[in-house]
Amino acid sequence: MEPMQNIQLFIDGVWRDGTGGGEDIVNPATGAAIGSVTHASPADLDEALHAAKRGFEVWRHTSAYDRSAILRKAAQLLRERADQIARGMTTEQGKVLAESKIEVMVSADIMDWYAEEGRRAYGRIIPGRAPGSRQMVLREPVGVAAAFTPWNFPALTPMRKIAGALAAGCSLVIKPSEETPATCVEIARALAEAGLPKGVLNLVFGVPAKVSEQVIGSPIVRKISFTGSTAVGKLLMAQAARGAKRSTMELGGHSPVIVFDDVDAVKVATMAAGGKYRNAGQVCVSPTRFFVHESKYKSFVETFAAVAKGLKLGDGLAADTKMGPLANARRVEAIEGFVRDAVDRGAKLETGGQRQGNTGFFFEPTVLSDVPEDARIMNEEPFGPVAPIVSFKSFDEVIERANRLDYGLAAYAFTASEKTATAVADALESGMVGVNSLAVSTPETPFGGVKDSGHGSEGGSEGLDAYLNTKFVAQFAP
Ligand code: NAD
Repeated sequence: MEPMQNIQLFIDGVWRDGTGGGEDIVNPATGAAIGSVTHASPADLDEALHAAKRGFEVWRHTSAYDRSAILRKAAQLLRERADQIARGMTTEQGKVLAESKIEVMVSADIMDWYAEEGRRAYGRIIPGRAPGSRQMVLREPVGVAAAFTPWNFPALTPMRKIAGALAAGCSLVIKPSEETPATCVEIARALAEAGLPKGVLNLVFGVPAKVSEQVIGSPIVRKISFTGSTAVGKLLMAQAARGAKRSTMELGGHSPVIVFDDVDAVKVATMAAGGKYRNAGQVCVSPTRFFVHESKYKSFVETFAAVAKGLKLGDGLAADTKMGPLANARRVEAIEGFVRDAVDRGAKLETGGQRQGNTGFFFEPTVLSDVPEDARIMNEEPFGPVAPIVSFKSFDEVIERANRLDYGLAAYAFTASEKTATAVADALESGMVGVNSLAVSTPETPFGGVKDSGHGSEGGSEGLDAYLNTKFVAQFAP
């Protein structure tokens, strides 16, 4: 990605400016504009929808084998360009370069995985009741899908939707975040160069609420996939429901982390702090509410705070940076508010708590201890580099506190006991549970939440099912 570029729409295989205005793209490390992104007008969106409709007819009749070859080739192009794409991602989103590079490589893996899984969209044959009859179950692409993705993972989140949809034989209109548009452009470019027929993937930008209203409201679209906040997700679910459209909703989280008394608190705190400040905490499955057994509480808090204090904050492109800026000014303000509220209510500030510098959107890695349960940060998704840590006494008490919120995306537990591991994994109300691990996202495993964190899964065979309809054919001898 070159600086000061103009990000265009990709409609029916053509890159072009939108006719609906545009906005600046800002580098969060400097606060300076580094380019602009064009907005689609209603007419542009209409064109994208009709292109996707035509693209679907071509793509659904392309064999799974040929679809797979195109996806694989695109994955290879992304790998070859990973360094350049990663630099662009860091420049528009802020995360450290090493994280951007990993994200591009994992995104290529997702594409490869779905390239293969699409070839396994098996149906089945059930013995018929009459001689010569067959009962067949077929898996068919849902149709034109619409996807909306946020700014925290500019490659990974669009890729989960693009790879699942295309592997299933669906065409797609995707609206990535206007704040981090350049990375998804690179994915579309790779697919186009790999031979994706025109109209199969259409990329649009605009005013999110206007785009989603028109696109979800269009009779052309049969499936919605959204990643973002619970509030927006509920709005889009209602719009999808009006058209009886299927949806996958990957919404906010507020992941509890339970640290039992039988682990090495220093080791777990060191690992957990590494996980907390990844992408400056702007991760939907970020470890968020830390419940530490009272016998290990002091050493856990001390170690966690020491790791946080030692993290070098800076421009994600600099080699020695360990945590970059927040992605936008809204997050800095929100995080300041969360910290102020917690401290006002009696939480202890162990480290951090301040903005840093006069340029860009930097906020110090922060640790709060003894945080009262009614503090906002214990109830609302913070989405930033703040770790609230509290203590607990018993298993039943901590499970009740962990399950207290309406969120149910990810949850984590650390224990040396197999018995406790099984019990805690069973008891947590959550779409994903990490036991002695914070890694709950791989291409081959389902990723999704329950309760207010949404429904449906991306990743794994579930992520392909999300774009397939089931058709039953009862076939009798003529
Ligand atoms: P927001 O809730 O307005 O936006 C979240 C995302 O949804 C953005 O990418 C935005 O472009 C998009 N969006 C907003 N309104 C939309 C609409 N009507 N139709 C389609 N897309 C729409 O605000 P924000 O400041 O970007 O984020 C606020 C909170 O959202 C964060 O604090 C965090 O809790 C949550 N969030 C979650 C994720 C996630 O991965 N689940 C990602 C980003 C933000």
